[in-house]
Amino acid sequence: MTRRHEILREMGLTPVWRLRNAEVSQPEPFTPEKAWTELKQVVPACTACGLHKTRTQTVLGVGDEQADWLFIGEAPGAEEDRLGEPFVGQAGKLLDNMLAAIGLDRAENVYICNVLKCRPPGNRNPEAEEVAKCTPHLTKQIALIQPKLIIAMGRFAAQTLLNSDATIASLRGRLHQYAGLPLIVTYHPAYLLRNLPDKSKAWEDLVFARKTMQGL
Ligand code: URA
Repeated sequence: MTRRHEILREMGLTPVWRLRNAEVSQPEPFTPEKAWTELKQVVPACTACGLHKTRTQTVLGVGDEQADWLFIGEAPGAEEDRLGEPFVGQAGKLLDNMLAAIGLDRAENVYICNVLKCRPPGNRNPEAEEVAKCTPHLTKQIALIQPKLIIAMGRFAAQTLLNSDATIASLRGRLHQYAGLPLIVTYHPAYLLRNLPDKSKAWEDLVFARKTMQGL
């Protein structure tokens, strides 16, 4: 009999009932795989904002879930809403070319997603409430990917992630931090399609990003 048992017996607190090891229920260990599975169930079922009423489907993201590079845009457009994959329309073609210009491919070591997981009707700008309701999904996604570098493409991604209302022009060209992860701001590919002269600035941002990544 153990000393603890003896004391309990003297106090009139025996017999001591104990669960057998096999009966002790252990909490399920957290794994990134489980968290991804949960996110992939939670996002398509999300009704947190009004966009669920008009979407065809949610668009979570595409690519390597352990990528070093994370590119974040604004919201799915018509093609993305139809196909369930981000950046598959005209802006996506430009993004693919931008990736190729710095030796990247969306199929390898790159993950691409948006701030919003649902398409705003008519491709209107996201509303503040939609961004606020959708941000927890993005936050989880970033925490699971743990990229080495985030590229925020366009005003909505940059302002949401940096909690700022500054312009792209004032945010680009320097290294920011999001939750301890390095973040670089550049123009949105859809903006570049309409403003060709700014393509050279986006190229500068990509060169800066590639150099930054080499030092990480
Ligand atoms: N624009 C975005 O911001 N995201 C897409 O997925 C497509 C166009």
